[in-house]
Amino acid sequence: DVNILWLRRDFRFHDHPAMVAACADGARVIPVVIRDAQIDSLGAAPKWRMGEAIAQFSDALGEIGSRLILRTGEPLQVLRELVAQTGAQSVHWSRAYDPASIARDTEVKTGLKADGTGAQSHAGHLLFEPWSVETGKGEPYKVYSPYWRAVKDRFIDAPLKTVSELPAPSDWPDSENLNDWGLGRAMNRGADVVARYAHVGEASAQGRLAAFLRDHVDHYKEMRDIPSSGATSGLSENLTYGEISPRAIWHAGWRHLEEGAQGAEHFLKELVWREFAWHLLYHFPDLADANWREEWNGFPWRPDNNDAEAWRRGMTGEPFVDAAMREMYVTGTMHNRARMIVASYLTKHLMTDWRVGRRWFEACLIDWDPASNAMGWQWVAGPGPDAAPYFRVFNPETQLEKFDKSGLYCRDFIAEGQGNPPQSARDFFAAIPRSWNLSPDQDYPTRIVALKEGRERALSAYHSHRD
Ligand code: FAD
Repeated sequence: DVNILWLRRDFRFHDHPAMVAACADGARVIPVVIRDAQIDSLGAAPKWRMGEAIAQFSDALGEIGSRLILRTGEPLQVLRELVAQTGAQSVHWSRAYDPASIARDTEVKTGLKADGTGAQSHAGHLLFEPWSVETGKGEPYKVYSPYWRAVKDRFIDAPLKTVSELPAPSDWPDSENLNDWGLGRAMNRGADVVARYAHVGEASAQGRLAAFLRDHVDHYKEMRDIPSSGATSGLSENLTYGEISPRAIWHAGWRHLEEGAQGAEHFLKELVWREFAWHLLYHFPDLADANWREEWNGFPWRPDNNDAEAWRRGMTGEPFVDAAMREMYVTGTMHNRARMIVASYLTKHLMTDWRVGRRWFEACLIDWDPASNAMGWQWVAGPGPDAAPYFRVFNPETQLEKFDKSGLYCRDFIAEGQGNPPQSARDFFAAIPRSWNLSPDQDYPTRIVALKEGRERALSAYHSHRD
């Protein structure tokens, strides 16, 4: 038998149910990535990072005597062609849960089955299938804590063994060339800079998990909010491309919990926030675009504006905000505490529509995840499920005293005014488009909005909208 393994966001060999199913009973396997509308519509940084994931995985397949076949087009059509060319019996893939992927996969499954070709989707991207968790009334959860209570004691199967051999077909079908896809082309900035900070591939992900559990999990609860501490796992980037499975992380974390590591439960809870985000996006498919609570429709958010542009460029004059925005520009990720602060600042102090911010994150984050990003923005801005109350406006100055007392995070990313700024701060100027016309020798900007004034403006808009 020959089977096709259609890879999308599952570039790994460990704990890969679709891969294990594809090579069951000694079947020969043709791994394929299809450049479809889903890949084409990615933001610049996630698209670049997708290219890196594909390149690495292609090499890794080569090392075990397999290959990665690349094709462009409508997935159903491409798969039909491949089936015709290779005589494959079945196509296997790992499930995706965002609305566009669900529509695509439903069409593929129906079409292949109508042709008499096997089509099987598998779990693997999540710990809990979104439809498998429901309240006593049979409804989806809308609040995190009861969701956590509902899942925390569930039995989770052990991860599947690493696939170390994928039998090759006697003839390989043609493949396109990854370089011709130009997935990094939209990155209007130094991909070479971000590449130095990225952690691509399965080996890298496993190394990070091991290092995190060895060095940081004990103090995770206290340290996870300090952006300069490097005390979080950094695994969101790898989870996004399936370079590690959430189940592998869960079990490794659980073992540490049993051994008494204090922070491990908190870490598992964070991992379950990712599950909760997918649960929400699955049940409320317009989470990324529509105010989740309708009473927010008509709120006087400002559309995109010059202040938002200063925010994007890390030039607001608010050090915590600017350090964070620059961190994202340089490294492709941003610390969670910082994400909350910049999102609050944009939607409250700058009164700008949360979707403006969501889109910028989507362009810049190499860990961009449609569910966590949408949930995060709605949560901070106010309209989201289980959201922070709008009137709880983060004060970026007080937040600095609490979470960057040493000033290290700001020094890491803001070069202006430092005699000898560190590489990461200088990298910002290497990464930005030349058209921004910024230099580290300029003075650090003055505030574009006074904190008190911004806060009062936001609160008065909130009260008049509510009344
Ligand atoms: P760790 O602290 O090591 O946590 C382990 C894992 O738990 C993470 O890898 C992640 O998968 C999950 N996790 C942790 N915190 C959260 C959270 N608040 N929500 C959902 N999952 C969580 N995360 C993304 O992966 N992609 C995004 O596009 C994204 N956009 C966000 C936008 C906003 C406005 C906010 C406030 C948060 C966003 N997050 C997003 C969530 C969170 O900031 C990141 O998951 C986290 O910073 C990743 O760092 P880490 O891997 O070191 O996390």
